[in-house]
Amino acid sequence: MTSFQRIYLDHNATTPVDPRVMDAMLPYFSDCFGNPASVDHEFGYEAKLAVDRARDSVAKSIGAHSDEIVFTSGATESNNLALFGVAERYAERGDHIITCQTEHKAVLDSCRRLAKLGKKVTYLPVDWHGHVHLDELEKAITERTVLISVMAANNEIGTIAPLAEIGAIAQAHGVLFHTDAAQAVGHVPVDVQTMGVHLLSISAHKTYGPKGVGALYVRSSNPRARLSPVIYGGGHERGMRSGTLNVPGVVGLGEALRIADKQMTADAQRFRSWGVRMLNELRDSLGDVELNGHPTERLPNNLNLYFPRVESKALIVQLKDVAVATGSACTSLSVEPSHVIEALGFGAARAHSSVRIGFGRFNTDEEIGRALVRIADSVKGLRALS
Ligand SMILES: *Cc1c(COP(=O)(O)O)cnc(C)c1O
Repeated sequence: MTSFQRIYLDHNATTPVDPRVMDAMLPYFSDCFGNPASVDHEFGYEAKLAVDRARDSVAKSIGAHSDEIVFTSGATESNNLALFGVAERYAERGDHIITCQTEHKAVLDSCRRLAKLGKKVTYLPVDWHGHVHLDELEKAITERTVLISVMAANNEIGTIAPLAEIGAIAQAHGVLFHTDAAQAVGHVPVDVQTMGVHLLSISAHKTYGPKGVGALYVRSSNPRARLSPVIYGGGHERGMRSGTLNVPGVVGLGEALRIADKQMTADAQRFRSWGVRMLNELRDSLGDVELNGHPTERLPNNLNLYFPRVESKALIVQLKDVAVATGSACTSLSVEPSHVIEALGFGAARAHSSVRIGFGRFNTDEEIGRALVRIADSVKGLRALS
């Protein structure tokens, strides 16, 4: 294996743990192994202090208060807790949830399950860029609507939603607003106050933290969002998520977001220049290449490209040591084309010929140049065959 030559360009699927994050985590596996819920002694108290610091960091990164952060096992669990938690807690008030066709499966499959349990779900379509129509969103709200769930940034095409506008609509109608911000937090500025968000999902491993840890922001005032728990037990996390906290993971999430706050702007600038370079150079050498998603309202680290007359599965096989993706990590295990690209309305062919490229903090200019050549050569080769 010439593993030193591999180039990882799939940072929307997961990111490596930043060495600074790992350093922050390590003591909490061994020396400071205490249970943060067992504060009768210093072992537990030290762990609790570390969790408190991490909670402050997570809260600060989204403009929240520390007591509004519930630690979970990741954005999948956070999404489940938001959707099932609101559906149960507000069952008296209503039974209708509004979401969007391009959501992550953690939202879509939760909604499907809720529909089986008797709830009503509206799946809003999106425009060519992956945005919901705000007027359609507003029209979909009924007396029975309890929750709007629209993701902050799409994990496949990178489109960033107009959160503040959606938040304003939700507020005007007295409906709670949840956003799956797994791809946004740590990458673009997010502020739950100005965006009018009531519930927000975070994942550590999408932003240089460890896998298996995340958080749900739960607004505590104006109005307070209430949740029924999904996991029952010792009443940890103010009863919303029982279970002994993953202390090293939580510390890692806190450190990852502390670093992101400082580094986000510089990282984004580098990623944007790589995106422009890739798109321009691939267009020059290949002719027709098109960008999926919004041209400007998009994640800096994401480039989703449509290569007409090229099967994306074949391209990925050709690229071998350049790791890019056909779609979301979860759907690419199966042979289904991306539900996100299909929802854009260009026809099914586009979903079979699109590739997601995700830049990361540890990529280099040299890697981008090398990946570019590999992609151009592979697409040319495949087009010559077809
Ligand atoms: C990765 C991702 C998830 C799932 O997060 P996990 O922490 O892996 O459970 C959910 N939503 C979006 C948009 C994601 O990108």
